[in-house]
Amino acid sequence: MSGPGTTSRTVYLPRLSDHALAIAAAMRSLGVPAEALPPPDRESMTLGLSLCRGRECLPCFFCVGDILRKCREPGFDRSAAAFFMPTGPGPCRFGQYRVLLQMVLAGQGVGPVEIVSPTTDDSYALFGEDPRRLRQRSWQAIVAVDLLAKLLHETRPYEVTHGDCDRAYHTSLEGVVDAFEERGVRALARALRDAADRFSSVKLEGRGTRPRVAILGELYVMLNAESNLQLVRTVEKAGGEVLLGTFADWLYYVNWRRRQQASRLGHYHDSLGALLTDLYQHRIEARLTRALKGALRHPPEAPVGEAMKMLRPWYEPDLGTEAVLTMGRALDVARHGLAGIINVLPFSCMPGTVVASMAPVLREARDRIPWLDVVFDGQEETNLRTRLGAFMHQALQHHRRTAPVERAGAS
Ligand code: SF4
Repeated sequence: MSGPGTTSRTVYLPRLSDHALAIAAAMRSLGVPAEALPPPDRESMTLGLSLCRGRECLPCFFCVGDILRKCREPGFDRSAAAFFMPTGPGPCRFGQYRVLLQMVLAGQGVGPVEIVSPTTDDSYALFGEDPRRLRQRSWQAIVAVDLLAKLLHETRPYEVTHGDCDRAYHTSLEGVVDAFEERGVRALARALRDAADRFSSVKLEGRGTRPRVAILGELYVMLNAESNLQLVRTVEKAGGEVLLGTFADWLYYVNWRRRQQASRLGHYHDSLGALLTDLYQHRIEARLTRALKGALRHPPEAPVGEAMKMLRPWYEPDLGTEAVLTMGRALDVARHGLAGIINVLPFSCMPGTVVASMAPVLREARDRIPWLDVVFDGQEETNLRTRLGAFMHQALQHHRRTAPVERAGAS
């Protein structure tokens, strides 16, 4: 991994999602100047598309465009900046983003820019004077934002007054960011308790009665509302409730994979390191979840190891890539009264295409649950609403057939 070490450069994080705001706050709490970039927009997408070669995937266009937009700001000083761009090995193009980014920036006359690239190889070990604590705080930030998103998605479809849940979410997100200024998981737990109170004071009607649809798939388009054309809201407008995959799940998967590979190669020290990381992460997640005082209605996801066991009869998890996480998680969450699954993928994404090709098998394993693959390429999806409408109709039928008890007991 390359990183800014103890330098005082400001680390800029592309806004994959609101997690970037909390991770930047976690970095600042340990003395690393950090800032989340603004969310991607049409300008950054157009910029990224015009400068890439066309064979890259959608997240790459957005990240390149967002970073170049920052570099072109008046007064931007590259000697005082570093950009956060994780990397990883394997068949995925993700590992080449940082190389391409340097080429594009050089070609645009920006000159060499420092890029901070934690890698999946070491479960994203971080940098600065205390990388271990930075990693712990970043984990806390990720879990806190995942929990807020779950609260939002479980409640917003049922709000009586439009906008109440979005307001509760944004105030709570600010609370989470502020909690890092106090530098402790205790402050963060307090912020989440406040969030639970805030959401519980929102007036809801018919909570839990809508068909619940999981949105899973490639991490960037799954979490980035700009790149997926606000898919969560679109599903809600079409009458559903969304279960969105989490950022934490990806990091649990990275741990799981690291442990598997280390054990196979006899690297027991590395395997033990991944195990300890996993134990710490689960402990923090349990603690922060408890702070919500039971405000979440739905069961938590099964541990990644269990999801991989569910997948094994249909596909070998050791084949790796994000595809196995998506498929294992789909099989897991579909056990809990789910009405449909949407697999999101960027155009030409290899792991996403594997998932789409396995969909018939996975559906058979889960009572022929309705399934929709949605490919994003940065253009306006003219037929998305039509396809989603048909899918939501199927999801509603599935919901009526499989979840009568839950609907009857909903309040
Ligand atoms: S998972 Fe797919 S979209 Fe993401 S970097 Fe890899 S190939 Fe690209």
